[in-house]
Amino acid sequence: MKISWNDFVEECRSCQACPLAQTRKNVVIYRGSVVAPIMFVGEGPGATEDEQGLPFVGQAGRLLQLLLDAQGFKEKDFHIANVVKCRPPENRVPTDAEASACKKLLGKQILIAKPKIIVLLGKTAYTLFTGDKNAKMTQIRGVFLEKNGYLILPTFHPAYILRNNNERIKLWQDIAMVRRKAEELGFMEPLPTPPDMPSSRPSAD
Ligand code: URA
Repeated sequence: MKISWNDFVEECRSCQACPLAQTRKNVVIYRGSVVAPIMFVGEGPGATEDEQGLPFVGQAGRLLQLLLDAQGFKEKDFHIANVVKCRPPENRVPTDAEASACKKLLGKQILIAKPKIIVLLGKTAYTLFTGDKNAKMTQIRGVFLEKNGYLILPTFHPAYILRNNNERIKLWQDIAMVRRKAEELGFMEPLPTPPDMPSSRPSAD
């Protein structure tokens, strides 16, 4: 069955499948391009995302965007989404029930976005995609997996990097891997010179 983007957005906005619907200000669906070769999947909206109705626009999002900009990613290259589309109160991790209530919508979103590469930002996204709750991000990051025809790269969540800035290089290297894979697959042109990792800290919310 083919579903249109507008119908999908409507379905998300009217969703009452879990209790997060009762406390949300906005349903946070995506930013970037509807159809894109690369999809980033985070955990769930925070306060800024809930306010603006867009994913990864708070401090962690600004860090992610800083790294994407430095690697020459343009809006047409990516589609950013989350495991859950409504803000968990106090920014807690979504429960298994909330993640599984939202999974059908994320599945439809992936079918519409048609990514070739899916980047899993943090443990919550990794667990949703693999069922593995015990993996250590330090052990699984930076290695592509293949699942259902998608190339999947787990990496650190940018909020973790905000708290552990000495690990920034690892997220940077993983984003560089995504770029190289996108170049290999013909979705992005190589940069004329290798970029340097930005060291600035994004402003706080
Ligand atoms: N953290 C996430 O996982 N997603 C967002 O949209 C913002 C912060």
